[in-house]
Amino acid sequence: GKENGRNNYQFFTESLNEVATERLSLENSLRLAIERNEFVLYYQPQIDIKTNKLIGVEALIRWNHPQNGLISPAKFIPVAEDTGLIIPIGEWVLREICQQHFKWLEFGLPPIQIAVNVSAIQFQEKYFLSTLQGILRSYNMNPAYLELELTEGILMRDADTATGELHSLKELGVKLSIDDFGTGYSSLQYLSQFPIDKLKIDQTFVRAMSTHASSLAIVESIVSLAEKLHIKVIAEGVENNEELEILQKCGCTEIQGYYFSKPLPADQFFEWYYARL
Ligand code: C2E
Ligand code: CA
Ligand code: CA
Ligand code: CA
Repeated sequence: GKENGRNNYQFFTESLNEVATERLSLENSLRLAIERNEFVLYYQPQIDIKTNKLIGVEALIRWNHPQNGLISPAKFIPVAEDTGLIIPIGEWVLREICQQHFKWLEFGLPPIQIAVNVSAIQFQEKYFLSTLQGILRSYNMNPAYLELELTEGILMRDADTATGELHSLKELGVKLSIDDFGTGYSSLQYLSQFPIDKLKIDQTFVRAMSTHASSLAIVESIVSLAEKLHIKVIAEGVENNEELEILQKCGCTEIQGYYFSKPLPADQFFEWYYARL
């Protein structure tokens, strides 16, 4: 009612202040986290079910907070994006991946392709391409073993500019994929002109596929779209055998999800892979 409108307003501003304060302290501790090297990468296997072989891994960041333990990227990536801290964090991720690639080689594993998430802020930053090029050079990393995952949103915002940038990245020799595919708003026209290697079917469709005909139809369409565009397609978030069988029927053979493995720390991934070789 009218009489407590003022109180509601006060309550509202107080909670907004709380949110703002919390964000500020998160921002400060994120800055420290970069200095103190508190981030870690987990690696989730991607499997080709026709051959039962590893295709590659996706690197997923976590924040190993000294007091609060492992913090999920969903909690801090948005703040890192708003504050621009995603730029140094993203660079750290790229360096870490190059180092890890060579560590696994030294341990006697075959070369492993590593996919990495690139945020919109990173992709649009002026020096992204030259930074990436510099990092690949400094580690003498074969670019073919690096895959950049971009979302539809990033590419469709300004599809003409994005097309040019994707071509420059392709020229470096890295692989490109579209993450969370189907959740955004892709123009098929642009999709066919992007030099991409792979579509990643979003896990919301995988989850709903067995109960919702519309989700199944979307999965089938994405698989046949990829076939027609002569690019690869992978389903993510596959948790059980039922989902696996449906995907197999649809013709989707590249799989990522808890069914095979959760994202693992580098040493645990090594053990997981070594046991399968
Ligand atoms: P994403 O790129 O869509 O990553 C897939 C997410 O699904 C990961 O969550 C993964 O752990 C989770 N997942 C994998 N398989 C399954 C499954 O079978 N079932 C279920 N329920 N979930 C599964 P995570 O690791 O918490 O990452 C969340 C998001 O944070 C990522 O979504 C990505 O957008 C972002 N992110 C992660 N690492 C980075 C990074 O290094 N840089 C940037 N910019 N963003 C990152
Ligand atoms: Ca991803
Ligand atoms: Ca995804
Ligand atoms: Ca996602």
